[in-house]
Amino acid sequence: MALTIHALSVGRVFDLGKPSFLYLRGWAERIDVPNIMFVITGGESPIVVDTGGDPDRSRDVHRLRMERDPQEHPAEAARSVGVDPRDVRWVVNTHLHWDHSSNNHLFPNAQVVVQRVELEFARRPVTWHQRNFEALPGMTPSWEDEATRFRVVDGETELAPGVTLVPLPGHTPGSQGVLVETAGATYLLAGDCVYLYENWEGDETWRHIPAGIYTDLEEYQRSFDRIDALDCEVVPSHDWRVIDRGVFE
Ligand SMILES: [Zn+2]
Repeated sequence: MALTIHALSVGRVFDLGKPSFLYLRGWAERIDVPNIMFVITGGESPIVVDTGGDPDRSRDVHRLRMERDPQEHPAEAARSVGVDPRDVRWVVNTHLHWDHSSNNHLFPNAQVVVQRVELEFARRPVTWHQRNFEALPGMTPSWEDEATRFRVVDGETELAPGVTLVPLPGHTPGSQGVLVETAGATYLLAGDCVYLYENWEGDETWRHIPAGIYTDLEEYQRSFDRIDALDCEVVPSHDWRVIDRGVFE
């Protein structure tokens, strides 16, 4: 059976500064963005890519307003596309920022697939990323609750037939994309390497535009070069147009 990617909203975060998403652009703009969870069906077992944030932690730790309707609860969202959370064998975290990794525990039989360099960095991040990883004094990050179920990978890895993990460092050291071959196309779930279509489409000055939150711009540039070479359709991590489309096949 051919693979299908479902893009599901698992919450919405409000009133964010545009330059966080688009490097040195949109100084006066504030935007609202979805947390997107992807569910890949049609393979041997469903695969989940990113699990979104937690509304309480969003308010208490990240000082951001997040709303999540009952149908946006990640377990419910999975069920809405015919997937029982207990049947999910792999949860891929594109990276370990809170808004991508806070609900891994809802998939109790899954291994959580993360790049080794990401896990190492997330446990000892630079100061300016500590809150994004919830790596604050006295706090256990949501993603660390599931530490015993990590499947740690190094570099490019075929996870299942038609599903390949591609390192895309820059936003964080161990950011990874998920390359998915469906019947109709090859898609790259790019994680926060590409927050918005605007990042990938660029403008009159820059072919592609990195996020305003990053750890290494040289790595970032190489990751964009890598994506260019993949000859695939790029799917951003926080763009409403991805939710509106919903299905990639
Ligand atoms: Zn991020």
